[in-house]
Amino acid sequence: MKKTMKLIIAIMVGIFMVACGNKSEEKVTKIFVGTNAEFAPFEYLEDGKTVGFDMDLIAAISKEIGVEMEIKDMSFDGLLPALQANKVDMIIAGMTATEERKKAVNFSEAYYKANQVIITTEDAKDIPNFEGLKGKKVGVILGFTGDIIASEIDGVDVKKYNAGYASIMDLKAGKIDAVVLDGEPAKNFVKNNKGIKITSAEGEKEEYAMAVSKDNTQLLEDINTALAKLKEDGTYDELLKKWF
Ligand code: GLN
Repeated sequence: MKKTMKLIIAIMVGIFMVACGNKSEEKVTKIFVGTNAEFAPFEYLEDGKTVGFDMDLIAAISKEIGVEMEIKDMSFDGLLPALQANKVDMIIAGMTATEERKKAVNFSEAYYKANQVIITTEDAKDIPNFEGLKGKKVGVILGFTGDIIASEIDGVDVKKYNAGYASIMDLKAGKIDAVVLDGEPAKNFVKNNKGIKITSAEGEKEEYAMAVSKDNTQLLEDINTALAKLKEDGTYDELLKKWF
């Protein structure tokens, strides 16, 4: 009887250990991807669906890695906190890999080169450079790199908006003199709104990358491998052609 008990306990311990072992090696089958779908042509809503360059790119990357993905649309300034609280596994949102953000998260290899531009009304005199924003009312979107850049220039009256669209409406209504925004979404606004233009002033180059939490090195590695593969096999170039 004693022997049988010992045997049963040994078997149960064995089963328990195997179960635990399996759990730690359990393969990830789905990733949650944070974005802010107000940044066409990288991510925006169309008929209730998130579409855009980033959306196609992350779909191709997750296919390459062999995981399903689910997009979580939220405010831009909520993205990094959501990643740090493990509410999402990664972020793709036209996000610039800044030194400040690198303190909080890891970034993948860059997937797009961008720069900040200045939008004014069509009849406004060209602003020769970013210093030319001094003394002007300048719209930015809260927490964007444009916000950081404009806020660093002394004497700029910075007005912060929650979304690009609202700042463009105020620009057209003459409530502000300029908007500082990433080049591609700026082009999109100019295309879809009469009476505004991009000035010749160009900001410093910045790079968009995907963000992953610091303790998830496996996912970061998988993303980088997949991105390299997509750049190599032409998929990445096809997506550039499709969206820009
Ligand atoms: N590239 C800018 C940033 O990282 C804006 C990104 C965005 O609005 N999606 O702040």
